[in-house]
Amino acid sequence: MPATARPADLERVADALALTAPAKRRRMLVIVNPYASTVSDRLKGLVVQALAGRYEVDAVDTQARDHATALCRGARDEGYDVVVAFGGDGTLNEAANGLAGCGVALTCLPGGASNVMCRMLGIPTDIVDATEHLLHLADRWAPHRMDLGWVDDRAFTFSAGLGLDAAVVERVDRHPRLRTRFGQWYYAQVALSTFTRRYLVRPPRMRVRHGGEDVEGVTTVVQNGEVLSYFGTRPLPVAQDVALDDGTLGAVVLRRASPIDIPTVMGRLFLPAPVAEHRQVTAWSKVTDLEVTSLDGGEIPLQVDGDHIGEVTRARFSVQPGGLTMVA
Ligand SMILES: [Mg+2]
Repeated sequence: MPATARPADLERVADALALTAPAKRRRMLVIVNPYASTVSDRLKGLVVQALAGRYEVDAVDTQARDHATALCRGARDEGYDVVVAFGGDGTLNEAANGLAGCGVALTCLPGGASNVMCRMLGIPTDIVDATEHLLHLADRWAPHRMDLGWVDDRAFTFSAGLGLDAAVVERVDRHPRLRTRFGQWYYAQVALSTFTRRYLVRPPRMRVRHGGEDVEGVTTVVQNGEVLSYFGTRPLPVAQDVALDDGTLGAVVLRRASPIDIPTVMGRLFLPAPVAEHRQVTAWSKVTDLEVTSLDGGEIPLQVDGDHIGEVTRARFSVQPGGLTMVA
């Protein structure tokens, strides 16, 4: 559902909260992805104005890929208390990469098509409600540590994967307007067509090594929590027995892609039957180290937090317990 700005609501909320504002305001850097699905200049202006009721706010637009990472590295030195990633999961991922291992708190406002991490943190998906949520945080300021996953030298907040999921987001990213308009339905359609056109014909083959065990597969997904994504308001859990702050990751390997396997794996996303217990799936919890290698030397698409970032022939996953300070 697209977020809509309700100026009167935002102003009313900001005015009400300003009446009880403490003398010392925290410094907040709002990093805005102007190309995110539901972000507009007008909306940005209203949100920043509202946040200024309780925080000392600076706002800056991202101008290129990884710009949010560079801005966050700067924010560490400039004395900001909190960074707000206003965009989609990709903007939050870049910000997390810039704040890894430091005490500057990170939070987010929903501006993307999916906003998976916002939802996992309990931040409302309606922009007015989410802004109000951030305004109230000023009074119950309680930053906490969560784990950061790493794939080689790239951090992720909720998931990274090689294979089918990465191929799907790579194709979805090529059509941002369709993604904005049709959201999860577009992802679902692309997932099915990617599978039937590519995975039935020539799936990538990979060896996954974890804890002395080797498994061969066609797709590997590594997660920091149990939810991989959302369909509408419905969480789609894949990994099991893993939490954002347990110091470990969960991993799921799809071992085979046959005309029966993928539809039944995808079907399980919507059923009480866990994906992790599918007969063609190997699932591990308490993962701290995992390595994926292409079996035939072919390049495999890699996604981090829902953004395709390139093709690789091997990838090493690890976890940084408590690597990110969040406030939500
Ligand atoms: Mg974890």
